[in-house]
Amino acid sequence: MRDTNLLQLALGLTPPWTVTASDFDPAAKRLDIQVDFAPGSRFACPACGTPDCPAHDTERMTWRHLNFFQHQAYLNARVPRVRCDTCGVKKVHVPWARPDSGFTLLFEALLMTMLSAMPVNTVARMVGEHDTRLWRVLHHYVEQARARGDASRVTRVAIDETAARRGHDYISLFVDIDQARVLFATEGRDANTVAAFAEDLTAHTGDPEAVSEVCIDMSPAFIKGVGENLPNAAITFDKFHAVKIVNDAVDQVRRAEQKRQSLLRGTRYIWLRNPENLSDRQRATLESLPTHHLKTARAYQIRLAFQDLYDQPSAEAAIAHLRKWYFWATHSRLDPMIDAAHTVKRHWDGILRWFDSKIANGLIEGINSLVQAAKSKARGYRSTRNLKAIVYLLAGKLNLALPA
Ligand SMILES: [Zn+2]
Repeated sequence: MRDTNLLQLALGLTPPWTVTASDFDPAAKRLDIQVDFAPGSRFACPACGTPDCPAHDTERMTWRHLNFFQHQAYLNARVPRVRCDTCGVKKVHVPWARPDSGFTLLFEALLMTMLSAMPVNTVARMVGEHDTRLWRVLHHYVEQARARGDASRVTRVAIDETAARRGHDYISLFVDIDQARVLFATEGRDANTVAAFAEDLTAHTGDPEAVSEVCIDMSPAFIKGVGENLPNAAITFDKFHAVKIVNDAVDQVRRAEQKRQSLLRGTRYIWLRNPENLSDRQRATLESLPTHHLKTARAYQIRLAFQDLYDQPSAEAAIAHLRKWYFWATHSRLDPMIDAAHTVKRHWDGILRWFDSKIANGLIEGINSLVQAAKSKARGYRSTRNLKAIVYLLAGKLNLALPA
């Protein structure tokens, strides 16, 4: 068998396309395969599909293909432009590549499989391509998969933000709780981001009015955005965020007290932890402190009591517990704890909603760490658009429908 026949079979080319020559350059570690069409061939118009249009002229093009053993392989062809009576002169679509891509479909499928598993810069190094070319491929397949996405059964949504670059820019993530996938990622963290989500949901056969439960932090922007755009959604305030507000108040009490109470130096992380998570040394330090004299220790007890809320056996028990806690915190004579209690009071129903919905943003935390890890490995994404594409690729459960 001649090598051109072998390559023709291996590439799966069908008429009018044939392999006419191959040039292997061992020094350049490169195989070039020449593909051509039979003279006088006719082609369908790429715009309207009219068959049997004559070639008007041709343009030489090159596509990177799957490696030939350890060597890079390229397809080279003259691509005809046809003259269509309706559409004018149009460049035909070749069966092995997308229009305007410098890679074959099979090479793109390999790239996407690699990009799903490792950072873009790593893939770029491995295949010897500039990362901007890989981003172009990645955006194409992610956008296509997103366009096919079906959000028709979405009813429970978690919303949270993640820092895009060095804490300056934020993107908001909208997660389908039941399918554990990112539905939507968008710049910013204001009420408009929720409006943009509702629009995107509608575009993917979802229904903003069918969303019955959302989990958010207590940011007024998200509360407002949900109220305006997801009218039937009951809000659950994320329990980790609620505990953090009380925890931050403990830290404020500690910082103020430490100015007069040197015993507290170096104890910051003790008060931020739960007793069962303390190291032996931290536990010993805690036990050596005159805790009944310390405001910080009182604040800490108030925080632990707040956390106990989430262990209450029923919604009724939870209401009773929270009322008692609120009384205690507001009578603690510790300003940060009183402020935190007032914040809890203002978000009372949404905090207690957890006992009905049992939803939290822990899922997003997991997605967040996935994204942050990928980000640090890639040493920056160049743009928020790139970051969003990575979020979808890693956490969107996309059907990429890769060419096979
Ligand atoms: Zn046409």
